[in-house]
Amino acid sequence: MQEKRITCIVCPRGCEITVIGEGKEIHSIQGQQCRRGEDYAGEEFICPSRILTSTVLVHNEGRKILMPVRSNRPIPREQMRPCMEEIKKAQVQGEIHRYDVLIPNICQTGADMIAAADMDWM
Ligand code: SF4
Repeated sequence: MQEKRITCIVCPRGCEITVIGEGKEIHSIQGQQCRRGEDYAGEEFICPSRILTSTVLVHNEGRKILMPVRSNRPIPREQMRPCMEEIKKAQVQGEIHRYDVLIPNICQTGADMIAAADMDWM
């Protein structure tokens, strides 16, 4: 049986939650003060994931720009490194706007890497 202490980041209260379980089976969750915290702690125990942020090289009209990007959904933590490798190799051409998909379905995670800003802003 594994015990994991998780700080809930869903709201600023930051409850300390203890999850006990094994593999993908949860036996108990304690310390949360609401249902959202319980869901968050359960997901963190089974498959911790995060929004991935980085930059992608964009070529446009002779300029090279490092465009800030983020995943449009959380990515499992163990997939972060391969995703960063794919982002490092990526190069995009043309005018980019906020929310444009620059790398679809990165590493088959189901998440797209999208532009986090308009290019004219940079
Ligand atoms: S458990 Fe609920 S109240 Fe506590 S930090 Fe998480 S969201 Fe906020």
